[in-house]
Amino acid sequence: MRLAKLQRVSYPETVAEAIQILSDKKRGAVALSGGVSFVFSPLQSVEELVSLSRLPLNYIKRKNGGLRIGATTPIADLVTSRAVKNYGDGILWETAHRIGSTLNRNLITVGGNLVQPFIWSDLSTVVLALRAGIKIQGKKSRDLSAEEFFTRLPRQFLKRGELVTEIVFPPFPKNYRAAYEKFTLTENDFALLKVAVVLARSGRVCRDVIIVVGGATILPQRVLSAEEILRKKIGSQILVNEASEVAAEEIKVSRDIRCSEEYKRDLCRALVRGILERILLDQKVPEWKLF
Ligand SMILES: Cc1cc2nc3c(=O)[nH]c(=O)nc-3n(C[C@H](O)[C@H](O)[C@H](O)COP(=O)(O)OP(=O)(O)OC[C@H]3O[C@@H](n4cnc5c(N)ncnc54)[C@H](O)[C@@H]3O)c2cc1C
Repeated sequence: MRLAKLQRVSYPETVAEAIQILSDKKRGAVALSGGVSFVFSPLQSVEELVSLSRLPLNYIKRKNGGLRIGATTPIADLVTSRAVKNYGDGILWETAHRIGSTLNRNLITVGGNLVQPFIWSDLSTVVLALRAGIKIQGKKSRDLSAEEFFTRLPRQFLKRGELVTEIVFPPFPKNYRAAYEKFTLTENDFALLKVAVVLARSGRVCRDVIIVVGGATILPQRVLSAEEILRKKIGSQILVNEASEVAAEEIKVSRDIRCSEEYKRDLCRALVRGILERILLDQKVPEWKLF
């Protein structure tokens, strides 16, 4: 962590106190949650860090079939939470336990992972697919949908002094299914691409569907035309192939030194198809067969 000008680290105990320090233009203070992103983006000019570690934002609560997760909750707590495992077909749990290594998961927080997305970040893709809400507190409070929150880079979007305080996951009805897949070269590597799908079924008919691709660009993308192909239709292999083909064509792909655009489109096609075969067609797809 290169913080050559760092003079002070404050440890506020309330959200109001943290907001007050962060709002003070003269102090130029920056919020510190897990602190992991400072490995990648050193803040050479920062004079003060405001640790969020003592704020009462480390919690996972069940509410009306949904979940409320405080922004400073470490990813490791999602992995050990029964409430998270039982929510949303286990999609959030599956995502959490595949983030980085154990050491990373102990440090990385839910809020930090969402506010500073990188091309490999996991949570944003799933938070968008689950139609979660983001609670923001500053001088005023505001509630945003994940869809609004990820229209641009969250750090540019947050005003001075504003903090993400909570992620609200809506109830997950019984007829809904969800799955998350990511492609990495090794178990703990940064993902090249990931896909989250949440859909409602009655029998084989897909009543509602949301398909989100992460890692093609820094921000997660919904693939609306692929969703449209599936919505209100009877699930079949032909339909699934068509939707995954369209998803692969439709996504925007940013330059990534790790692989070609064509490779990412191939990954997108394979991941979307694999998930849909599993949760719409009830096929048991062994991992080796995905590619
Ligand atoms: C080796 C390694 C492997 C990794 N692997 C993965 C992976 O597989 N998947 C993945 O998703 N991530 C992975 N990460 C983590 C990811 O790259 C980010 O560094 C991490 O998510 C940042 O979270 P944090 O809690 O440490 O946030 P911080 O670094 O503390 O903060 C990030 C930014 O957000 C701001 N901020 C933090 N919390 C709030 C808040 N509540 N409100 C407003 N602003 C806030 C901070 O001021 C800062 O600008 C990995 C990191 C490393 C080092």
